[in-house]
Amino acid sequence: MDFGLTKLQRCLQQRCLELAADFATRAAVHDREGSHPTENYDRLRGEGFLELTIPKQWGGAGASFLDHTIAFEVLGQGCPSTALAFNMHASVVMPVLQSPEVSDTAKAMIADLVVRQHKLIGGNFSEPGTTSLIGERPLSARAKRVDGGYSITGRKMFASMLEAADYVMVMAYPDEASSRFAGVLLLVPPTAPGRRVNANWDTLGMRATRSDSLILEDCRVPDSALVFRADDTRRFRHDYLNWFWGSYTAVYLGIAAAAYNELRRVMHARQPNGFAQPLAYHPDVRRHIAELSADLEAARLITHRSAWLSDTQGPTAETTAALYRAKYMVGEAVNRITRVALTLGGAHGIFKGERLEQLFRDGAIAPIQPPPTDFCLWNMGLHELGLDPADMLPPMRLAGH
Ligand SMILES: Cc1cc2nc3c(=O)[nH]c(=O)nc-3n(C[C@H](O)[C@H](O)[C@H](O)COP(=O)(O)OP(=O)(O)OC[C@H]3O[C@@H](n4cnc5c(N)ncnc54)[C@H](O)[C@@H]3O)c2cc1C
Repeated sequence: MDFGLTKLQRCLQQRCLELAADFATRAAVHDREGSHPTENYDRLRGEGFLELTIPKQWGGAGASFLDHTIAFEVLGQGCPSTALAFNMHASVVMPVLQSPEVSDTAKAMIADLVVRQHKLIGGNFSEPGTTSLIGERPLSARAKRVDGGYSITGRKMFASMLEAADYVMVMAYPDEASSRFAGVLLLVPPTAPGRRVNANWDTLGMRATRSDSLILEDCRVPDSALVFRADDTRRFRHDYLNWFWGSYTAVYLGIAAAAYNELRRVMHARQPNGFAQPLAYHPDVRRHIAELSADLEAARLITHRSAWLSDTQGPTAETTAALYRAKYMVGEAVNRITRVALTLGGAHGIFKGERLEQLFRDGAIAPIQPPPTDFCLWNMGLHELGLDPADMLPPMRLAGH
């Protein structure tokens, strides 16, 4: 078993540390104003992060899912919103490029947009009614075939970096389909007629992701906007869950690491009046730090292993359970670390613009970010007990019964 990073991974980590240090200088302002960190997106674009994980055959750098995890853990330490929103790009582009269900034409089109034209692509699957409480994701947005393209109508929600991205990949229900699992992915540029943004993302944390709502009213896109269509999207959603949601775990791990590092800095810096030593020497503080170090390291190892499993095994049951376990563990670690950091930081740390205050709010989103902690536990329980989800009773009385 080798826990060491390769030379390339250390190099990538170092590049991300430099970017994160730069992003951190603007994080508080973007958080307060709820503004798109477009300078950060531009830097990431300039540094080749749009194509970091794109396979070499398509002109990308060919980084693995583990490489991506290591990178986004570090980027998340600088500006969590930047890392979370920017991750949306790889989270939707990678499944498209890797899936055998996507045509070569669509793959070439996406690779060209990203690698040659340097386009940033967001994704919008969610709708106001989307919930993990049921095992499916019914779509209310409809895509209708029209002459030369598609007309999309519906209301989507929580679309990170919606107005900063060059395109948003929208999942809608194909109007002519009969299966309830059908779906179509279409690329919608900001200029598409019938596309509107409701800038309603004024939230507790992850404010600069600007995950606004997308309103589509007879929104017209050409035939060439088609990325993927299937009568049953379940395999597509399942086989690339590492990208679709597993890739976000690293960002929250980054928040935990940032809060831990900031807490250690503050404990060394603060020397209360009347004492000859800073708070770091207080035995209670040392004990807290020791506990948090174990939380952080456990979360990191579980997350890295889940990514390594994903790279080496693909979407096996073991990998899927490991990705859920990682998301759960990171959610727990972030909550505990940011909470203790806020407490030990005291009233000095709760002011707006203070790093611990922002990390506490951004970290609070970790157990909510899909897959939510409760959903992870639900799935881990099934896996550990070897149970078939089809044998489970609904957790609540179904409508109409
Ligand atoms: C910061 C952020 C950025 C996002 N960006 C995007 C984006 O760019 N594009 C996009 O399409 N979507 C995005 N989303 C939306 C996301 O993918 C979900 O669709 C959305 O969060 C679902 O809403 P919910 O959390 O209220 O729902 P729910 O799934 O209903 O979760 C609410 C709570 O219900 C409980 N729960 C849920 N399922 C179960 C279960 N099976 N067992 C027990 N309890 C359960 C949990 O306590 C959970 O926290 C983003 C979300 C966040 C937080």
